[in-house]
Formats: sequence, C-alpha cells, structure tokens
Amino acid sequence: MRQLRRSLRILSEMKKYDTLFLDRDGVLNKKIEAGYVLDICDIEVLPGVVYFLSRVRNLFNQIIVVTNQRCVGRGMLTMDRLEMINRTLNQLTGSHIDHFLVCPHLNNDMCECRKPKDGLFRKAGDIYNIDFSNSVLVGDSESDLIPAKELGIKTIYISGYESKYADKRVSSTLHLLSAFNNLY
Ligand SMILES: [Mg+2]
Ligand SMILES: [Zn+2]
Repeated sequence: MRQLRRSLRILSEMKKYDTLFLDRDGVLNKKIEAGYVLDICDIEVLPGVVYFLSRVRNLFNQIIVVTNQRCVGRGMLTMDRLEMINRTLNQLTGSHIDHFLVCPHLNNDMCECRKPKDGLFRKAGDIYNIDFSNSVLVGDSESDLIPAKELGIKTIYISGYESKYADKRVSSTLHLLSAFNNLY
C-alpha cells in the first residue's frame, strides 16, 4: 500500500513536458527595432506573457531563456548589466524562468552558441539533462526555430509569416496559450 501511494505520488509529480525554451526579445518583451534593451526601462513585457507563463509553468520541469545579445560583444552592455536586466524581466513576468542562457558574441566571432547554432540548447541540455523530444521552444525568428528543430524540439512561432520550421504559429503573444493546448 505504501509502495502504491509512493508510485502515485511520483506519477502526479511527473510533468507533461520536459523543458520550455523561450527566446527573449519578441517573445517575453517587445523587441526594440534597430536597437537593444540596454536598461530596465527599455523592458516592455508583451501582452499575455505573464498569464501564459503562469498557466504553463507546472507543465514543465524547467523554463529556460536562450537569447542572442550581441550588444554585449559590441561593448554596449556588460554581462553584469545584462544579467540585471534579465533578472528584472524575470520578476516582471512572474519569476517563472529558471535560467537565462546568453550568446554575447558577434557574427564574426564564429562561436558555437549564436542562434541559429545550437550551442545554447546543448549547454542547457548539459546542465539539466534535457529530453529535447519532449520539449518546446517559443521564438519569433527562424533562427530560434532552426536549432530547436534540429534537436527534435517542438516549435511555436510568433510571426505573421509561415515557416517550414514551425510546428505551430501564432500571430501574437496573446495567442500563445491556445497554440499550446493542442501541440501534441
Ligand atoms: Mg527574438
Ligand atoms: Zn556565442
């Protein structure tokens, strides 16, 4: 009996999915056209995001942001300041994010982490032992979707345009939850 109760408890603690990967700019906060989020006052949380995260939080073991921030490589922002911005963004969206993984490099740095390369996803996989085939990415750019698809992650694309890399597409962050409801 005790054994059965223990099994039932483990079962009820199992999550539906493994990891939710999120791009940052254009997914959590408004993308700054021809510029960067360089200060906390530049953060504008997109509509529906707080509600979306609160509703899906318990479906996942972890929520991880994977973001290219070449403003760091360009010397416009220090890593410390970027981390402060990310912490603030996490607070503003309900503190559901477990980890921010950042590529600070420039295009010509030839790093392995700048999306569409998959280095940030692999790094997350090393830290959390992730089951990619049971994970989901939300991105607003094909460079988010490409590395995810290569690793077998399901993709939700926030865009006005179709993409062959998108499993689901929504026109705005307001519709994220509905895209999610029938993903599998
Ligand atoms: Mg983006
Ligand atoms: Zn990089």
